[in-house]
Amino acid sequence: KQAVYASMRDVEPVTKDGTRIQVRINAGLRDDIANLSLTGADGIGLFRTEFQFLVSATLPARERQTRLYRDVLDAAGSKPVVFRTVDIGGDKTLPYLRHDDGEGEENPAMGWRALRVALEREGLLKVQARALLEAAGGRELNVMFPLVAEPWEFDEAKAVFEGQLAYLRKTKRMLPEAIRYGVMLEVPALAEQLDILAPKISFLSIGTNDLTQFLFAADRSNPKLAERYDWLSPAILRFLRRVVTSLEGSNVDIGVCGEMGGRRLEALALLGLGIHRLSITPASVGRIKDLVGKTDLGEIETAMRGWLAEPPANLRETMHAWASARGLLTD
Ligand code: PEP
Ligand code: MG
Repeated sequence: KQAVYASMRDVEPVTKDGTRIQVRINAGLRDDIANLSLTGADGIGLFRTEFQFLVSATLPARERQTRLYRDVLDAAGSKPVVFRTVDIGGDKTLPYLRHDDGEGEENPAMGWRALRVALEREGLLKVQARALLEAAGGRELNVMFPLVAEPWEFDEAKAVFEGQLAYLRKTKRMLPEAIRYGVMLEVPALAEQLDILAPKISFLSIGTNDLTQFLFAADRSNPKLAERYDWLSPAILRFLRRVVTSLEGSNVDIGVCGEMGGRRLEALALLGLGIHRLSITPASVGRIKDLVGKTDLGEIETAMRGWLAEPPANLRETMHAWASARGLLTD
């Protein structure tokens, strides 16, 4: 199997009817960078910057952050890298970053985490912004904010970056060639305000790990619930369809960076919904490229429209039979 996937390294993911699909990887550590050339992926669609914070005993100094981001960009070369600002707090607590009251939280996933922490501890985001802007001097910077629930949270986060950019400009430092701002869609409420957000952003990346836990009100880390709900549920897929529809006609690139995109039937469902950018775990790149090459996009789009209009009793079984009949699931 490994050999099959290695042989996919230089294969471009193009559907049978000719659409080029973007298949990128999720990463977070310096060691992950090698996966770009090993998989032949189209870039890093999600770089989880909090990993550097989690493996460090103290807040990583700006120079250390800059070095990591620069190394990642150097290794990626002409391929795009999307840096996600820190998603810490909640269950990923850091000894050197605590909430003032020092108390634990009853619902950490819905608590003081991600952008909520970064906007309150503005120094943290300022330092990270500066590190990212300096690392990307002379190149394109793609930056994405996690757990945005309201458009104003994006505005505030962007303002921190623009403030640092103004400072760098004043001190005549080399600036990024271009900055593309994006947002993760993880909080269902944001889906109702995409018309307001769309003109402000370049891309939207759907974080299906958090999004599904919030849609189903089911803790993603609770093993008792792990088997209970299915990504191939009309609830999830209809929700994603509405997100895609509400961004039609805008210039916002839409993709998925949750684990969902790394599984074959789920990836097929996303293709059927019109999502052509996936960022997935490196181990899945070969098999997803293989799937893309065997898929007729027009056919899965039509099938998906039918399934969502009148959902079968078990969509997973229906999709499995559909995909098997077309030889999509063989290696
Ligand atoms: C997600 O929530 O889907 C996501 C990609 O982010 P993380 O898994 O890091 O929370
Ligand atoms: Mg998330």
